[in-house]
Amino acid sequence: MEEFDLIVVGGGAAGFFGAIACAEARPGSRVLILEATPRVLTKVKISGGGRCNVTHHQFDTKRLVTSYPRGQKELIGAFHRFQPRDTVAWFAAHGVELKVEEDGRMFPVTNSSQTIIDCLEGAARQSGVSLRLKTLVQKIEKTDDHFILHTKDGATLRSRFVLLATGSMPFGQNLARELGHRLVDPVPSLFTFEIKDPLLEGLSGTSFPRVHMQLKVPAAAQDFQQEGPCLITHWGLSGPAVLKLSAFAARELFASEYQAQLTVNWEHPLKYEAALQQLETLRQQHPKKKVSNENPFHCTRRFWEALLRESGLTAQQTYAETSKKHLQDIARRLTGTVLSVAGKGVFKDEFVTAGGVAREEIDFRRMESKVCPGLFLAGEVLDIDGITGGFNFQNAWTGSWLAAQAVAQSLGG
Ligand SMILES: Cc1cc2nc3c(=O)[nH]c(=O)nc-3n(C[C@H](O)[C@H](O)[C@H](O)COP(=O)(O)OP(=O)(O)OC[C@H]3O[C@@H](n4cnc5c(N)ncnc54)[C@H](O)[C@@H]3O)c2cc1C
Repeated sequence: MEEFDLIVVGGGAAGFFGAIACAEARPGSRVLILEATPRVLTKVKISGGGRCNVTHHQFDTKRLVTSYPRGQKELIGAFHRFQPRDTVAWFAAHGVELKVEEDGRMFPVTNSSQTIIDCLEGAARQSGVSLRLKTLVQKIEKTDDHFILHTKDGATLRSRFVLLATGSMPFGQNLARELGHRLVDPVPSLFTFEIKDPLLEGLSGTSFPRVHMQLKVPAAAQDFQQEGPCLITHWGLSGPAVLKLSAFAARELFASEYQAQLTVNWEHPLKYEAALQQLETLRQQHPKKKVSNENPFHCTRRFWEALLRESGLTAQQTYAETSKKHLQDIARRLTGTVLSVAGKGVFKDEFVTAGGVAREEIDFRRMESKVCPGLFLAGEVLDIDGITGGFNFQNAWTGSWLAAQAVAQSLGG
């Protein structure tokens, strides 16, 4: 039977990074990656719209963890040992320069995810990591001091340690279950909201730099709140504020079959009273001006016209022709439009699953299983996920790096 020091199950971001880190920390160690499909790093390839949002420019670990709806508490210690600054340094040391964009997202300067794939494949080759494609691991057995891995094609392999980096695939998670782990049910995270509302009709492409959103979900005891940029799409709403809400309310939205009530302040932090005051001042100072031509707020002309239409005003109406109720209605819609979320839309740039192996069963100093010593877990196989912006890959880099150091140390001992 072939024997290895570390077998990594899964050739994704976490699997590659962990295999390389172990082989680099303990040169000469026998490290093998087993990948079920014919290709490795497929999610890296399509990530970030083909540019791969490798990490986020947030080097303050206390702030960094607030971007993880699940895993906040556990990741604090882990990020003390390997955080985005270390990711940037790691890729620089392996010949890849990362750049930061205005919103903090970090990409390779080439703007191509292939750069990251080439880097990881090259580093794996150089450090002596072996790789087998089209090799699905079907079963893992634990003996006293070893693991026996059974593959679908009938091979049996022996390894001292195993790193389970199978992502969100249910088959991979079952391997953890069979070794004694509890699984938290998977539900989607990072999605857009499907909303049909007359106010949004014909406004696809309209963006807002800073909205405040409050989401009332029947299955949740408390409302969810987020602020940030937002975009009207053909199907409803998207943008960072929506994606953050979808992540933090992922479980409750799933339980409520994606039916919820969303209240949006399009002009955050402007309050209703201040908005009404501005409109009343305009009415006093410019009674003859058409309301449609005199928009005192930051929103686009198209959105302003839609607001007026929904508040019952015609395009020709002047300020003098508006009633107090009209102005109240405009101010109310601007600072608190109530919309019905009717479903979950897609977000093609990034998608993750909430759920996976229960966090309390992992020793986060080593990423080692507490129920099956010698088994390490990293990446999306765990019940950890981040909001959009490079946080999900950072979780994969950090977890697999910690696991690799622990394995390398044990091999040395
Ligand atoms: C479209 C899209 C875009 C994304 N963009 C970004 C982004 O820009 N930034 C970001 O931070 N995150 C992004 N993400 C999320 C990110 O891709 C994941 O969080 C990350 O890839 C998880 O890495 P992983 O190694 O844990 O799992 P995966 O990348 O899913 O890798 C798991 C691997 O294990 C293999 N496998 C599973 N079971 C077995 C088995 N039994 N035997 C052998 N092999 C097995 C699978 O085939 C797969 O190759 C994106 C996700 C998607 C879907």
